[in-house]
Amino acid sequence: PETLLDVLRGHVEARPDAEAVVELGGQRLTYAQLWERASRVAGGLRAQGVERGDRVAVRYPAGVNWVLAFWGTVLAGGVAVAVNTRSAQPEVEFVLGDSGVKVDLSADSPLPDGSPQVAAGLGAADVAGLFYTSGTTGRPKGVPTTHEAFITNAENMVRCLGMPRDVGSDLRTLISVPLFHVTACNSQLLVAAYVGGTAVIMPELDLPALAESLPAERISFLVTVPAVYSLLLRQPGFSDVDVSGVRTVGYGGAPIAPSLVRALQEAFPRARLMNGYGMTETASLIAVLPDRDTVEHADSVGYAVPSVDLGVVPIGEDPSVGELVVRGANVTTGYWNRPEATAEAVVDGWLRTGDVVRVDEVGRVHIIDRIKDIINRGGENVSSVEVESVLLSAPGVADAAVLAVPDDVMGEKVGAVLVAGQERIDVDAVIAHCRDHLADFKVPQYAAVVTGTLPRNAGGKLLKNQLRQQVRWGNP
Ligand code: ATP
Ligand code: MG
Repeated sequence: PETLLDVLRGHVEARPDAEAVVELGGQRLTYAQLWERASRVAGGLRAQGVERGDRVAVRYPAGVNWVLAFWGTVLAGGVAVAVNTRSAQPEVEFVLGDSGVKVDLSADSPLPDGSPQVAAGLGAADVAGLFYTSGTTGRPKGVPTTHEAFITNAENMVRCLGMPRDVGSDLRTLISVPLFHVTACNSQLLVAAYVGGTAVIMPELDLPALAESLPAERISFLVTVPAVYSLLLRQPGFSDVDVSGVRTVGYGGAPIAPSLVRALQEAFPRARLMNGYGMTETASLIAVLPDRDTVEHADSVGYAVPSVDLGVVPIGEDPSVGELVVRGANVTTGYWNRPEATAEAVVDGWLRTGDVVRVDEVGRVHIIDRIKDIINRGGENVSSVEVESVLLSAPGVADAAVLAVPDDVMGEKVGAVLVAGQERIDVDAVIAHCRDHLADFKVPQYAAVVTGTLPRNAGGKLLKNQLRQQVRWGNP
């Protein structure tokens, strides 16, 4: 298939009555029904003037309407703008304005309805989606995603899972993370569509419902973020749930604790685990850590997916440590409306990921930190992530963030922002703990104890830019 239209059309012919999309507690659509209803949405959009390449905002809650708006836009030849419905109003307005939507399908607008008018003449290079980055390191950037990029990502996933390309109803994936991010849309919804399987969507994260749906909806491909897994395993009665149908347990988006990986292996003894690393700019996956490595190399995000080349641009003396760069059919050629950001990120056809990594002897990628968060202390690179993980194990520390503090002599020094749990934080004790677990130059020289919570975006990622402006440092 060249386009997503070809993909869907193929299943409508081959398995019209197979289940395509299920909304838990809501509607269920077969492939024939999905095609029929999405074509009506396409007809309605065409009647509202949507033509090839026009943007349509998809702002429904997770569920069948979201999927129909997405497919309807794609069948009309338009570009589905996956709007983060959890972000604040000014951010939503920024995305609507930045993408220049022709039609805004918000939660209270009905799905467009018209006589089917599926676009003709679309090709692999046509843009079908516009996804915004999470905005962790700055303002979210729009990433145009082509039919080729969507299909390449789905093909990567199929190959990494070792699945036949046509497993049909055997693949049933449960979507519990937001559909407006690439993991859920590209690596679950569209992977299910690619192989003719079923996407089961949870409108809201609900842990008891998630557990129940595993046997009830015969979920075979489970994907969610580490934080949700750790809550799920602690659900009362979870050990009694029949999870024998789950064959793949995927996680990603954030680092996972080795203890949680072991707990997942015990909780899903018949499943293969898989860590997926990717970004909006790569239509989801860049690397996958296969089951055989998940326990022993829990700190790694694995090996390059088939469609990409990886490179490392050193940031210091060690040539195996540096910024990860990537190129391939699923990698965007640039940001929407952002020529400067594009010029910075895309260099000689390679996309700079912004992630500093170490690649080991066998090609496994280990993420060290974001390049913007690495601290250069008098020529020594300090990973803020490494220091944070030590701080989190210190007495009394409920949460922690590590930032660079500008310094006339050293360039930058290490600063720790600490959030207290139940008790008061004894900063000296925390620093002593760091001395026991870190090399000298990594031990924080500044500390700030704060109350409340650290600023995070909807995906739970720490907003260090924002924190940098708020914090007042003291010397421990
Ligand atoms: P912005 O680019 O706007 O600052 P963002 O980079 O957080 O935001 P996303 O594209 O949603 O936006 O996230 C991609 C980033 O998430 C990666 O660059 C990486 O830092 C992190 N990441 C993704 N998967 C994993 C994983 N499996 N393990 C650890 N980190 C991951
Ligand atoms: Mg990013």
